[in-house]
Amino acid sequence: MTVLDTTAAQPAGGPPVAGEPCVLIKLGEVVLKGRNRELFERRLQNNVRSAVRDIAPVEIWRRHGVMVVRIRPTEDTGDTERDARADVATVDALARRISDVMGIVWVHRAWRVAKDPDSVVRAALDLMAGRTGAFAVRSRRRDKRFPLTSTELDRLVGAKIVEAYQLPVRLKDPEHTLSVEVDRDEVFVFTGGLPGQGGLPVGMSGRALVLMSGGIDSPVAAYRMMRRGLRVDYLHFSGMPFTGPESIYKAYALVRELDRFQGGSRLFVVPFGKAQQQIKSSGADRLAVIAQRRLMLRTAQTLAHRLGGAALITGDSLGQVSSQTLANMTALDDAVDLPILRPLVGMDKVEIMDTARRINTLAISELPDEDCCTLLAPRRAETRAKIEDLRQIDKRLDADELAERLADSITEHRPAYGEGGS
Ligand code: ATP
Ligand code: MG
Repeated sequence: MTVLDTTAAQPAGGPPVAGEPCVLIKLGEVVLKGRNRELFERRLQNNVRSAVRDIAPVEIWRRHGVMVVRIRPTEDTGDTERDARADVATVDALARRISDVMGIVWVHRAWRVAKDPDSVVRAALDLMAGRTGAFAVRSRRRDKRFPLTSTELDRLVGAKIVEAYQLPVRLKDPEHTLSVEVDRDEVFVFTGGLPGQGGLPVGMSGRALVLMSGGIDSPVAAYRMMRRGLRVDYLHFSGMPFTGPESIYKAYALVRELDRFQGGSRLFVVPFGKAQQQIKSSGADRLAVIAQRRLMLRTAQTLAHRLGGAALITGDSLGQVSSQTLANMTALDDAVDLPILRPLVGMDKVEIMDTARRINTLAISELPDEDCCTLLAPRRAETRAKIEDLRQIDKRLDADELAERLADSITEHRPAYGEGGS
């Protein structure tokens, strides 16, 4: 995996580059065609714009298969060298931020230069200054009217780099790859890049509600569904008033971390302790755990209807714990009409943990807390819940009415990425 090359866009002496630093974005799911492609690009453009709102005012240009993000020019301070340095730092911050926006495959910090071979060579020399090791030039033309072919560009730029810095050329596995991309109005020159998240822009697939515990799985489930273009809200059940608020802090911290993938996240918290007591005293016994999960889902469905959500998302993974059997999943589906999306159903714990580590939620999930579910754990949980028995319990609880009341008792929070402590 290529990592961010911190030397990539630093002006490094020599003849000044006649161009500007910018961010070049490579889009995902390139197979999208026609109207879907238009929706994809428009949504992505808006999502990028709101993701970088706090960093700098930007202009975003849509080109064929790529997007260009440039800092909106402000009045000249007269100190061009200082301006260029400030812009490079800003472009750095923009690139890092944009690499979290769903629907992007690569993020490059590039020099945007005039469409003539001399300007390309100057930018290339600037980018390669001070480097050691073998290199390769890879050119491509999105505008075929450019006077040189890709191969000619490769040769010209490569020869100038050899002449200036005496670096060896190696086409296979070079230490540095210098990319030259000829576009409609300009040429982009860059090295390295940040891998994006891939997937689809958030919001393209609609809206859904995540049942968010403080555990490892549900944050990963949320991430995977955002990556498929869902905008998500979060619902957490706390054992309050019979447990402390720790699980709420964890859910809050998790949502704050996940907020960088969509922005504007909402966390709803339900105090669930009293309802759990009711389940316990309803004589549910070995079915208590699954009866309570059905009540969670019903409450989630009530809230989802109010929010305009079209599905529920959970972190269930087949067979991961003894209650996550096919029979029990069927018994859970029976409690609600909305589809329950279980993106982790076929994933191993190791795979789930790898993702959790990569998206920075694992360490938060591993903090100790008092999960509301432990209040109710019977000695042996049912693995083959009978739907008829569960419906009886729901009747005794008056589950529909109870779910409405629980949904009325929620508090709403807005954990925002980058904000201070919880
Ligand atoms: P997780 O790691 O997400 O907590 P888990 O492996 O502990 O999952 P369970 O405790 O069986 O599995 O929970 C399965 C799913 O039910 C969770 O992934 C989550 O979507 C939902 N869930 C469980 N507890 C809560 C809770 N307190 N608040 C909201 N959702 C919950
Ligand atoms: Mg859990």
